[in-house]
Amino acid sequence: MSETEQNSFRKRIIKLTIKLIKMSENLDPFSIAQQQLYNACKIVGYDSDIYNALSEPERFVQIKITMKMDDGSLKTFQGFRSQYNSARGPMKGGIRWHPDESASLVKALSAWMTWKTACVDIPLGGAKGGIICNPKEMSNRELEILARSYIRQLADLIGPSIDVPAPDVYTNPQIMAWMMDEYEKIIRHHSPSVITGKPLPLGGSAGRSISTAKGGVFTIREAAKDLDFNLNGSDVVVQGYGNAGSWVAKILHDDFGCNIIAVSDSRGGIYNENGINPYEAANHKERTSTVVGLKGTKELSNEELLELECDLLIPAALENVITRENADKINCKIIAELANGPTTPDADKTLFEKGILVIPDFLCNAGGVTVSYFEMVQGYYRYFWTETEVFEALDRVMTRAYRSTVKQSKKFNTHNRMGAYIISLERVINAMRLRGWL
Ligand code: NAD
Repeated sequence: MSETEQNSFRKRIIKLTIKLIKMSENLDPFSIAQQQLYNACKIVGYDSDIYNALSEPERFVQIKITMKMDDGSLKTFQGFRSQYNSARGPMKGGIRWHPDESASLVKALSAWMTWKTACVDIPLGGAKGGIICNPKEMSNRELEILARSYIRQLADLIGPSIDVPAPDVYTNPQIMAWMMDEYEKIIRHHSPSVITGKPLPLGGSAGRSISTAKGGVFTIREAAKDLDFNLNGSDVVVQGYGNAGSWVAKILHDDFGCNIIAVSDSRGGIYNENGINPYEAANHKERTSTVVGLKGTKELSNEELLELECDLLIPAALENVITRENADKINCKIIAELANGPTTPDADKTLFEKGILVIPDFLCNAGGVTVSYFEMVQGYYRYFWTETEVFEALDRVMTRAYRSTVKQSKKFNTHNRMGAYIISLERVINAMRLRGWL
């Protein structure tokens, strides 16, 4: 090959690479959160100064935790806390412990927390935290050390009036209890409202453990009314059979007579067109750590599960599962996003064109943070509500938020994710303006 031919070949390769990069979908979580924000600002007509003021966290902290493991070895973990926006109140957001945790994901989740608390109109801002680790491989002693170390590193930056953590993927009430205890040791007085999702005897709220699912179900009930379709006997698919996913399956089965035809977890999915008993699936997972292998069900992959024909599809695991690649193969009437960030902006467009009603993540899964807010309020007064009182108040908040979202989507002729963004942005921007930040 002559030198000229080699140069032309190189140029062709570079052009092709650029084309491929442009063609592939950007799945970086924080880029997606920023793109959604940008799209919403564009719809309403907010200028670039407003976008810039909202497109990064107020503060982002990265920490390192080195600890001795049970086998005597030393291990270093990386942790994060992203405090996104505090204009509407103390920041609020869960702590995720997962091997795939990253700075980008924590920032994205903290942005979505900001829009979530604004969408349901509770007086809080948004934050999120995480540690890159695999809790499934750690002993209870190791988990406790990790929880306490995380709080020691961040104690000056959190507090009931500053930033209030909670559980998220692979963290639970026991981990919250250790974290609260460590914080109280540092400040030397009781402060239960520093953290939510605590066990009941330590000031947790009745109904907190099922609140994300319960709140999601209130929005599903409203969406079904809008589509004039009867939930009784409808086919439901749930991806992710953890806290949010297993509870939503049980509530839809018990309260609305839904037919749960498929569920999954990180090891795969199970299917039975005649219906899966959600309690048997939960018991099987409890015994074997997975839903896979439940008697009377066929195995299928998480990808196949998402493309099953059904009435209601509920992603309740992780982000980026409905993308440009599979959006046109989704075959349902309603998508209720209990997971954070399951759908990419390209997929949103396709789903809107196909006429699928999406209840977007930061509306659909806001039941968790709403009952966390109730837990903070109960903690302040040391006066606790019954589960019935909690769920009545939750129903009012979720139904109002769903109705305002749909109103905005219709007004701007857009999908519900943008409708929810429009409400949230207006509230956050208004608070920032009143404080003189804008
Ligand atoms: P969890 O840890 O209780 O459960 C997560 C489940 O997802 C597990 O069953 C796990 O096996 C499964 N999973 C993991 N990777 C998977 C994969 N690749 N495919 C299919 N399943 C997979 O977590 P959770 O609290 O139920 O949270 C689930 C989602 O809901 C997350 O996106 C979380 O941010 C969101 N969420 C949870 C709450 C809450 O209060 N728990 C509140 C708001 C949003």
